[in-house]
Amino acid sequence: MSYKNLELRKQTAREYYSKKPHLAKNNQEKKRQRNRDLIHEHCGCECRTCGSTQNLEYDHINPALKKSRLSFLSIGKQDLINQINNIQVLCRTCHTKRSQAQRKAAYHLFYNMPLDEQENWISRFISHTGFVDRTLSFEEDEDMESL
Ligand SMILES: [Zn+2]
Repeated sequence: MSYKNLELRKQTAREYYSKKPHLAKNNQEKKRQRNRDLIHEHCGCECRTCGSTQNLEYDHINPALKKSRLSFLSIGKQDLINQINNIQVLCRTCHTKRSQAQRKAAYHLFYNMPLDEQENWISRFISHTGFVDRTLSFEEDEDMESL
């Protein structure tokens, strides 16, 4: 589907659901439940690190592969299937520890680069060309949603 057609379809859907907000909510919840079921089927229902079944969340194993800031529950089925090997279930405590460790590792790698390479990366990020996705990856995790 072309971009223009996709935008048109989204616009039509927005107009349709603005008149029937109750229906939109049901469809959204159906989609979220379908995505939850797919993730549980593939990843199980316990923390991959400690085995806890409380306060479970989704983690992007490699945050650099994150496609958008949307929750795994909000994306389309094919998008979810394409990304399923990059998802793991963690409890909130293990997820927070892992995300903090990833950020510390990134800082560690950066500050161990020669100064001219650091300056090169800084210039690239200031100009924003081609680095938007990776910039998002190391911001606070937007996917801290409970299962
Ligand atoms: Zn855990």
